[in-house]
Amino acid sequence: MLLQKRLVLKISKTLISQEEIENKISEIAEIINSKYKEEELVVIGILKGAFIVVSDLAKQLQIDVTFDFMSIKSYYGSESSGQIKIIKDLEYDISNKNILIVEDIYDTGLTLSSLKKLLESRNPKSIEIFSMFVKKGVSKDPIEIDYSGFEIGPEFVVGYGLDYNGKYRELPYLAVLS
Ligand code: 5GP
Repeated sequence: MLLQKRLVLKISKTLISQEEIENKISEIAEIINSKYKEEELVVIGILKGAFIVVSDLAKQLQIDVTFDFMSIKSYYGSESSGQIKIIKDLEYDISNKNILIVEDIYDTGLTLSSLKKLLESRNPKSIEIFSMFVKKGVSKDPIEIDYSGFEIGPEFVVGYGLDYNGKYRELPYLAVLS
């Protein structure tokens, strides 16, 4: 069954190349290095999708930084705001810390908006959000994205951490399936 699905769904085109992604990560790392030059930062990667963005970004940070990860599940009901369930919580206490949430993709915004509210309740000193990909015009719950890598269309994408049924996360580029 799974094998059949993999055979049916093929990468139809590369949307964003490895080189474009590498350049963008360097650009964003430079801004973050400059902004947090004299401040400590806690980078919070949202699993699983953000694991590649976080590791690529990490290698280019030259600041006082620690890394933590959270795994959450989103539930979309009929109401406008999403509910999230924590599958794996942070290890560190973020009170009075500058935090940077790193997400793979911003689609409806429900996940990030609920997550931001949850982390705000833990009294960090500041919160910023970096989403590697942002779907244009899809947002139902717009929140401010401080650093966005690329704006893309509404199509379902895979690669660079993003999966289809757990597959394709390892691709070093962003692709569309068909
Ligand atoms: P949001 O709450 O913003 O609608 O959902 C964001 C989450 O939906 C992402 O973290 C990701 O897991 C999933 N998602 C949204 N769009 C895509 C897509 O095009 N491809 C993949 N693989 N996941 C997506």
